[in-house]
Amino acid sequence: MNIIFLGAPGSGKGTQAAMLAKELNIPAISTGEVLRKEVEQQSEIGKLAKSYMESGKLVPDEVVIGIIKNRIAQSDCNKGFILDGFPRNVNQALTLDEMLFSLNKKISKVFNFEVGEEVLIKRISGRFSCKKCATLYNRYFKKPVKEGVCDNCGATEFESRSDDNEAVVKNRLQVYHESTFALIQFYQKNNLLVLVAAVESAPLVFEELITSIKNPH
Ligand SMILES: [Zn+2]
Repeated sequence: MNIIFLGAPGSGKGTQAAMLAKELNIPAISTGEVLRKEVEQQSEIGKLAKSYMESGKLVPDEVVIGIIKNRIAQSDCNKGFILDGFPRNVNQALTLDEMLFSLNKKISKVFNFEVGEEVLIKRISGRFSCKKCATLYNRYFKKPVKEGVCDNCGATEFESRSDDNEAVVKNRLQVYHESTFALIQFYQKNNLLVLVAAVESAPLVFEELITSIKNPH
């Protein structure tokens, strides 16, 4: 089963990808991660990608697709894979289809993890972490049991990322929705799209995901 996961930042799709990978015994491929790995290993394509990054440019789709192709051609993807973080627009989706065709593969399902904007904003802008042990909290959903004291290590200092403030997050979500709107329609037209209401806790969302995989309509 060759799967794509779509979802806004804060939708929890990375967590779901890891859980599903374990359940189906197939790898979850994070585009950012494979890109970093190729750069670290200084492979030819990794060096090429790095040259774009160093000059402050986006790595072109052909390079990213080449890196994903290398990863998908590995034997642990024979039974399938979960692609997380790619494609992000229709052009990339078309390039991906061509690449998969060349490997005699195709996408079986595309899961879109939907969470209302209000919740997404709270999930991201509410994040903070313990300065000492990095335990994650959220001021809306997961506060320390004792206010101002880390549950894990007892420290009293916390920090949050400056780019997690509400205005920045709102902007990030808007960019995401604008760029993926056509992509979601593309997969819908191709009868590959499955919507997953991802507002509940991770185990409940996972249950829904498994149900929709086992009972294809
Ligand atoms: Zn701590």
